[in-house]
Amino acid sequence: MRVVIGVIGPEDKLREKPLGAFPGVESVTPVLKPHKLVAYEFRRTFSNIKIGDVTVGGKDVVLIAGPCSVESEEQITSIAKIVGKAGARILRGGAFKPRTSPYSFQGLGKLGLEFLAEARKQTGMPIITEIMDTKDLELIAEHADCLQIGARNMQNFSLLREVGRSKLPVMLKRGMAATVKDLLMSAEYILSEGNFNVLLCERGIRTFETMTRNTLDLNAVPLLKSETHLPVVVDPTHGIGIREFIPAMALAAVAAGADSIMVEVHNAPELAKSDGEQALLPGQFQDLVERVRAVASAIGRSL
Ligand code: PEP
Ligand code: MN
Repeated sequence: MRVVIGVIGPEDKLREKPLGAFPGVESVTPVLKPHKLVAYEFRRTFSNIKIGDVTVGGKDVVLIAGPCSVESEEQITSIAKIVGKAGARILRGGAFKPRTSPYSFQGLGKLGLEFLAEARKQTGMPIITEIMDTKDLELIAEHADCLQIGARNMQNFSLLREVGRSKLPVMLKRGMAATVKDLLMSAEYILSEGNFNVLLCERGIRTFETMTRNTLDLNAVPLLKSETHLPVVVDPTHGIGIREFIPAMALAAVAAGADSIMVEVHNAPELAKSDGEQALLPGQFQDLVERVRAVASAIGRSL
């Protein structure tokens, strides 16, 4: 039994203190990485993050599924039932959508959050939804079990600090032109405000490749697992963006060590208001769950 105390602050000030000379101090280990709180060395054990009653970061690989956007109460509740029955543990769906064009569907906002809460009531699944603006935190926190910070906001530092002051878990997605180090430093902003319930999500980066929506950087998975104690989520949907190839990348992500997989699923993708072309159909998702179970068990994990 030993107590590990993490000390942060200006390095020059810390260096002035002879910490090792205090009674009861066995040793002083400098954590030299600039991302001190997110560094694996800070905890020397992997963090388990609770989203509702679901734990991410343990032996179980957790599936997060749902539509890109919440479109109606009927849409989100029916998809929630489909993915929940198939084996998803957490429901996703955007109420505030970051869209490239201001003329595209922007999400239902507050109404979307209410529909998500209704879907949770009917299925028992905790929900994750995106926050784009600090002014929406209170409202979203009333309805959601986990906040998502999207790729486009990974370096929105005021938003990172604000969710850091919240108690809710936060899934931070990697920016499309961000390095793994950038992702870790952005997570550090959240932890430095006191919120240690952070999950990191690899969702593909922009490369010179044009045949896929993004390039899913699975290198990031073992790298993150060695650099940080935080759980790693992989989103193959935005990572490759082509429906038929999403399952292959999901399986590869599990094999690489991802703690959780997030995929978009829609029961009528031709009518979807966003990302319909990359949504898995219910049957494809059911099939994927069984294959994820097989890969998870091959590497000593469960579903
Ligand atoms: C999403 O999850 O629907 C989304 C907008 O993702 P990203 O921020 O990774 O583009
Ligand atoms: Mn989407």
